[in-house]
Amino acid sequence: MERLIERAAGDLVDSKYAIALTGAGISTESGIPDFRGPQGVWTKNPEAERRAYLGWQRFLEDPKAYWEASLTSRRPGLSGDRERVMPNPGHHALVELEALAILKCVITQNVDALHERAGTKHLLEYHGSGAKLRCVSCNLRFRRDEFDLEKLLREKQLPPRCPECQGVVKSDTVGFGEPIPSDVAHQSLEEAWKCDLMLICGTSAVVYPFANLPRIARQKRTETERRTGTGIYAVESIPAVTIIEVNAEPTPLTEEGISDYLIQGKTGETLPGIVEEVKRLRK
Ligand code: NAD
Repeated sequence: MERLIERAAGDLVDSKYAIALTGAGISTESGIPDFRGPQGVWTKNPEAERRAYLGWQRFLEDPKAYWEASLTSRRPGLSGDRERVMPNPGHHALVELEALAILKCVITQNVDALHERAGTKHLLEYHGSGAKLRCVSCNLRFRRDEFDLEKLLREKQLPPRCPECQGVVKSDTVGFGEPIPSDVAHQSLEEAWKCDLMLICGTSAVVYPFANLPRIARQKRTETERRTGTGIYAVESIPAVTIIEVNAEPTPLTEEGISDYLIQGKTGETLPGIVEEVKRLRK
């Protein structure tokens, strides 16, 4: 493991455009359960998974009823009390890598806003943020407190409407079956295509289209000339992106050889270890 941490630090220092992809695993050490890990919400309660698939359909059928149910429900959100949940050393390590000008972007599947609270600047929230609302017509995002939702509920004025285009406003979090907002989908594809290193942290990599991003990066190749034994030059096509996973367990990316190597362990311990090694190499 120590050797792999050193290898990852060396690869990061050598990279020109590194990005990170993160999933629920990076937030488990902040006390937010993942879905599919051994202690995951759905591993322990498959009924919760079935329910989750219905949200977007309900919104499409009746946005007013969707909003009324969400404001009157007693069920706690995924992140529990949002203010009491804090970013952990894994989130902070990614902020440090960005401050060192190594990491250029974080693309997260998480809706817990912990990367934003930790201070990541260039952040793409692929599945949205539980701290925000979004207009489904023009993609404008709002902080939740920009709308007086309780008043709209009392006055039977739900769903909230976008002040710019009058489109219907929903939670920014992307439901199952809901398209990824076009702006974030587009920018994430660009980042995956632009990077020469992808650091994938705490994701089972089974949720699509997010799980396509490493596969897209893996297709990027560079061509180099190699002199053969006969003196004739041959063109060799080699992968142009180094893909590193930091995860508690192997994933399909590990098993299919999409990632170059897996550092098996906790993100809250491994990522700070990588940052320390990067700093040592940079001295
Ligand atoms: P997942 O639950 O499918 O997989 C999490 C992975 O992280 C597992 O492989 C698990 O073994 C690993 N893991 C758990 N704790 C870890 C740790 N401390 N260090 C390293 N690895 C660890 O999560 P996913 O791939 O992100 O997909 C779930 C979907 O559900 C996502 O789309 C996300 O939007 C949503 N989700 C979000 C949150 C959140 O916002 N915190 C939490 C649960 C689910």
